[in-house]
Amino acid sequence: MISLPRIRFAVLPTPVEPMPRLSTILGGPRLLVKRDDLTGLAFGGNKTRKLEYVLAEVLANGARTLITVGAAQSNHCRQTAALAARYGLECILVLSGEPGKITGGNLLLDELFGAEIVWTTRAERDVVLRNTFNHAWEAGKRPFLVPLGASTPTGTLGYVTAWDELMQQGVMPDWIVVASSSGGTQAGLSLGAKISGSSTQVLGISIDNPAAILKKIIADLANQAADRLAINTRLSAAEVLVNDAYLGAGYGKMGAAEKEAIHLFAKTEGLLLDPVYTGRAAAGCIDLIRNGFFRAQDTVLFWHTGGTPALFASEYEDQFV
Ligand SMILES: *Cc1c(COP(=O)(O)O)cnc(C)c1O
Repeated sequence: MISLPRIRFAVLPTPVEPMPRLSTILGGPRLLVKRDDLTGLAFGGNKTRKLEYVLAEVLANGARTLITVGAAQSNHCRQTAALAARYGLECILVLSGEPGKITGGNLLLDELFGAEIVWTTRAERDVVLRNTFNHAWEAGKRPFLVPLGASTPTGTLGYVTAWDELMQQGVMPDWIVVASSSGGTQAGLSLGAKISGSSTQVLGISIDNPAAILKKIIADLANQAADRLAINTRLSAAEVLVNDAYLGAGYGKMGAAEKEAIHLFAKTEGLLLDPVYTGRAAAGCIDLIRNGFFRAQDTVLFWHTGGTPALFASEYEDQFV
């Protein structure tokens, strides 16, 4: 149990549900889903858990403005904007993309929450982020920088806690399959599993990074989080399980595999996935099942990380009919 500062606003614990129809149609192992699309905070998602620990840091610092960064349809930015509104903070989002090109979905929500949006390109994003922070500082806004995906050692604690929650629910799958991008989610789950000596394997489906890079990011985050918890458990990059076979046409590009996964989850289980993260991770999971990667007697838990508002972004919504 983690005793580090945390502000509680997530709706927890999230349910674990069986997916019997999906399992039958795939002729696969027993399938479960952990519903972190139901964490609350403006349609939920995995960033909510991380932000509980990050917000404690923000308030302890006396900050008054949250600044963060992401793609135009960033779920992390939407959840951060909602959080800022809820705690009376200002919010500035540095988004990569073209204003007016991709509308709706998370972007509509960012605007409803009153976030100020600074547009940039992917290449210039880090520089613009730094400049935006400096300007806010000079303007006396007391900014706090929440890095990409809230994947800091502090944010990672949210998923060490999530691992504990799963154990308390009495669920011990052979495998956890989860979408992995900035790494904090998988780092927290992998660290939690290792601390508790569990035999559950945490497999990240990479969304946008080569496996070698993502494994190192995850191991570093997990080890810094362990430091923060004052425990000796360490993860090596080699122990972190990442599959990068499903990068498709790149970040945010929904292909046939993602579309099939979204349709399959919707039609067999009434569950919504998203075009960028969970659609890709589920496509990977489905492909692994079809290729006999799991044993018939295994229990595989798909960790749903949210993202569903992106279904309604102009870029994707037309592609489902
Ligand atoms: C951010 C995000 C992820 C990736 O989580 P990381 O902790 O950044 O690896 C997965 N799914 C959704 C829906 C997300 O928004």
